[in-house]
Amino acid sequence: MLPFGLTSGAILDKLYPLYYPPSLTGLRGSHPGSHTHSHARAWDKKSDWGPTTELKETYDLVVVGGGISGLATAYFYQQKHGKDKKVLILDNHDDFGGHAKRNEHTVDGKLRLAHGGSQSIVEPKHGSEIVHALLKDIGVDIKRFDTAYDRDFYKRNNLGAVTYFNKETFGEDKVVKHPYCNYPNYVEGIVMGGKLSNEEAAQQAPLSEKGKDQLLRVLNGGLHVIDVPEEEMEDYIDSTSYFDYLKNNLGVDDPGILKMARNSGLDWELTGTDLMTIGTAKSCGALGFTPKAVYDEDNPYIYHFPDGNASVARALVKKMISDVAEGNNAEELVLSKFNYAELDKARNAVRIRLNSTVVNVRHGGDPKNSSEVFVNYINDNKSHQVKGKSVVMACYNMMIPHIVSGLPEEQAAALRLQNKSPLQYTTVGLRNWRAMKEMEIGLAMSPGNMHQVVFMDFPVSIGGYEYTKTPDDPCIVHMINCPYGETIGAPALEQYREARYKMLGLQFKDYEDEIRAHFNGMLPQELFDFDRDVESITVNRWAHGYTVGGPEGSVKKGRQPFGRITIANCDSGPSADAKTAIDMASRAVNELG
Ligand SMILES: Cc1cc2nc3c(=O)[nH]c(=O)nc-3n(C[C@H](O)[C@H](O)[C@H](O)COP(=O)(O)OP(=O)(O)OC[C@H]3O[C@@H](n4cnc5c(N)ncnc54)[C@H](O)[C@@H]3O)c2cc1C
Repeated sequence: MLPFGLTSGAILDKLYPLYYPPSLTGLRGSHPGSHTHSHARAWDKKSDWGPTTELKETYDLVVVGGGISGLATAYFYQQKHGKDKKVLILDNHDDFGGHAKRNEHTVDGKLRLAHGGSQSIVEPKHGSEIVHALLKDIGVDIKRFDTAYDRDFYKRNNLGAVTYFNKETFGEDKVVKHPYCNYPNYVEGIVMGGKLSNEEAAQQAPLSEKGKDQLLRVLNGGLHVIDVPEEEMEDYIDSTSYFDYLKNNLGVDDPGILKMARNSGLDWELTGTDLMTIGTAKSCGALGFTPKAVYDEDNPYIYHFPDGNASVARALVKKMISDVAEGNNAEELVLSKFNYAELDKARNAVRIRLNSTVVNVRHGGDPKNSSEVFVNYINDNKSHQVKGKSVVMACYNMMIPHIVSGLPEEQAAALRLQNKSPLQYTTVGLRNWRAMKEMEIGLAMSPGNMHQVVFMDFPVSIGGYEYTKTPDDPCIVHMINCPYGETIGAPALEQYREARYKMLGLQFKDYEDEIRAHFNGMLPQELFDFDRDVESITVNRWAHGYTVGGPEGSVKKGRQPFGRITIANCDSGPSADAKTAIDMASRAVNELG
């Protein structure tokens, strides 16, 4: 049960300011209850939702899904058809933005912002004209990050890329000042290893003597150890498993090294490196491959608001519902507290209705010439119906066949093949970061832990928000869990499913215990006390996280228009990218005619 059903602005007026989801901590992301009705529909084929209230609300457009794509859909629709057009956006979560989620922590009275999902605008300069025009219009000025992002922060504080080996897996708790892989290199300005030679790094790893020899072979590795004619090399590395290369060419059998290797690509390619070819592992800088720049010089990884791409979502909402907050552009909105009571006011041209899971969408007649579409959703365990002249599905593509009635079977089958990988971003409000500074931790690879990465929040000051300045100040530490299945080499979809269920089966206490053990093992006890220094924890679980896409051809087949219904979402790209979410929204609106 969710705390409140968001049924009307009037109720929210009374509850506000109590209703302010960004400040909730604990289990967030796809929070408990958010998928209850979707799962009942998809897994149990539930179709009887009790008596339905016909709301007598008719919209020009109903959008299913309030992530960046759904919000952009409403924006493009109004751009094309006029600001007076009535649009309703329905989302199953208690906040808008989908993966673009804002986490707020208040530590010792100071507000600390964090991203609970979608992190940064990736390679904005490679974005389409559509993306650039939208960002400009909603007041996102990417040039601001040239100065807002403090590239000198890590260097000034001597914060580097390190590895934390935990006792449970490696026999002792130890931090070695070397990342052993390229992963941390995407954090602009982080101090990448380099202080230790390969020999020293291998020696310092808590492995047996044999294991240290093997690790040194991997670090010194290089593809020259492969006995294949030069002209066949490219094909070979693109078709041979990275794990086979480690085992057969480099003679690795130490389970600790294989664990380091498996976790070294993290989320770059949506799977552990056990499923990568040598070529893919090389391109994402897995264990043993030389550090190299992750992004091109024109697109450094600096386009990060303090709450990540939640700022893009908020700027879109503000553009369409002007009374929701004060501020004229994304920068001015950074510290602006949104009034959620404004989201669903009857007077708005665009209304956003949260905590509302859509369970059925059907045309009023033959889809070829129907002029109305009925949309049923569950809010506060009750069934409601609204009508739209058109509908855009901006929710997860694989969910669409369970919701849209009468889809052609071929299209439904294609949509069912679209997939998403699970991912978890945990944000921790710390009272100070003296212990992190002492250990010189900017980012710690943590191959033995649930969160394979821990890092200091990105150093961005913008819109009056100041990132943490000195080690005595409160800060946010981010933790990333890219969960894999137990069985090394098992097919990706099996691993996603297994990891997703495991993730959802855990309680907050399980996560807290894990985080406690992680911090206690990694940080010196004389400088760090978990109960004293950790103020708040927000575990953002995204059981349906990164877009994976289906087999060749299935994406386009799945996203075709169906009568008055078209399909947006970054799954239609397919690409786990905010730019794609925007492009797909534009496409879906244009397909409506
Ligand atoms: C942890 C994480 C980090 C990421 N980091 C980045 C990043 O740094 N940069 C980047 O560009 N991209 C990133 N992404 C990718 C991200 O998915 C996209 O950038 C973008 O935010 C997706 O927007 P969307 O609207 O297409 O989908 P979503 O954000 O998934 O929005 C779809 C919404 O529809 C809702 N929905 C689903 N079913 C229903 C239903 N039946 N009824 C009502 N609502 C429903 C969903 O719950 C969701 O709220 C990240 C993703 C994750 C999970």
